[in-house]
Amino acid sequence: MKPVELLKIKKNNKTMKIIRNSILPPKGYKAITLFCFIFIKKDTKLSQRDINHETIHWEQEKELGIIGFYLLYILFFIWNMIIYGLNWNRSYHNIPFECEAYMNSFSLEDRKHYRWIKYIGKTIF
Ligand SMILES: [Zn+2]
Repeated sequence: MKPVELLKIKKNNKTMKIIRNSILPPKGYKAITLFCFIFIKKDTKLSQRDINHETIHWEQEKELGIIGFYLLYILFFIWNMIIYGLNWNRSYHNIPFECEAYMNSFSLEDRKHYRWIKYIGKTIF
């Protein structure tokens, strides 16, 4: 597989770049998105749902900036670790950004800006 793959997103007609590497994402995760770059391990295959999921993260990152996004992401995660009794998996899945991305990855149609806000304080997983 090629180390860098260009991927046209039909919805917004933008291009995401898939970067195959041996460092990102950390173990246990399939992909990590930094704006239009999706980092995956060398032999990972992405489904259309995975790509939609990462595209939603890209939209969220555009709304908050990369620092704002990851700062909030970590704060939501820490908060969830407190309320879900240090359950890593539940804490990760119930981060509002992940809730939005998982709940809406079947299709990218009609995403409203800041849609992740409606998942704050909700337990989805
Ligand atoms: Zn995600």
